Amino acid sequence: MGEERWCLAVPRQGAEKTRRQLLEEGLLDRRYRPRPEGDAILLPVTEEVLGAVRCEFEAVPEQVDLPRHELVGGIAIMQENDPAGAERLLASRPSLHTVLFPTTAVEGEYRTRRFSVLAGAPTTRTRVTEYGHSFDVDLALAYFSARLSTERQRVLGAMEEGERVLDMFAGVGPFAITLARKAGVVVAADLNPAAVHLLVENVALNRAKNVIPMLADAAHLPRLDLSPFDRIVMNLPMAAPEFLPAAVALCRNGGTIHLYALQEEEGACLPRIREVTRGEVVERQVRTYSPGKWHAVYDITVEK
Ligand code: SAM
Repeated sequence: MGEERWCLAVPRQGAEKTRRQLLEEGLLDRRYRPRPEGDAILLPVTEEVLGAVRCEFEAVPEQVDLPRHELVGGIAIMQENDPAGAERLLASRPSLHTVLFPTTAVEGEYRTRRFSVLAGAPTTRTRVTEYGHSFDVDLALAYFSARLSTERQRVLGAMEEGERVLDMFAGVGPFAITLARKAGVVVAADLNPAAVHLLVENVALNRAKNVIPMLADAAHLPRLDLSPFDRIVMNLPMAAPEFLPAAVALCRNGGTIHLYALQEEEGACLPRIREVTRGEVVERQVRTYSPGKWHAVYDITVEK
């Protein structure tokens, strides 16, 4: 049962304002949970302030010290190989089914990592929900990063309705499916068969009928004689600049290329971009990667 504490009974309307005032004055007893009673909310206080009465309260469960981690759907990826910490983490969130530890860096053409399972169900597969979309991912088979969700919304915000979009390195489809909301059509290519399998599943899951998944090396796309695209996403940060000539060939004059790069110096990709177009270039930092290294995006207006 609860514990008897001092509290203020305040009308529901305006209770939030009083709660904030008490918090600012250091009088709100945060070890206990406020609760409704009749038309009032009972706010636990640290001392017998004017008007305080004694009532029973449940204690707020103690916050356990959780290890550092990144969440991808129902999976937590820990930075330390700490099985005891992983068990605490798993117990702290009902939405988690698995805690993983990466045993390699992101590697190879497919940009995947290997993992060991520290706690929970032995799987690398999960479902991620992002701005109203759902993506099935398998972290060992295909690249996925939840940290790019804001960037996907930024690109969506920059789009006009009905655009023709090409995602040259689509993975399991988070950019392609997000941008499909405004696009006329999205061609989504990847050379990892497992990524394209998941992409096809995600297209069905999100009923994104205007996305065309393609198992293809992006370097071959210009040979397909596709009509020019209004917008091209190049999210292969280690190597995308190599594919710039192909992207420019596939883009309409005045169209936009979003080139993602991992760099240690501002403007590192500009000389390469200047080899293929004279158009306007805006460079932004997307997120830090490691000390002195960051993910940048270059929004390039193609001028042929
Ligand atoms: N755009 C996806 C996302 O944001 O989650 C995936 C990005 S991941 C960094 C890069 C993807 O490019 C990987 O799925 C990899 O398999 C794919 N890839 C690598 N080289 C490629 C190529 N030459 N042609 C097409 N896809 C390629």
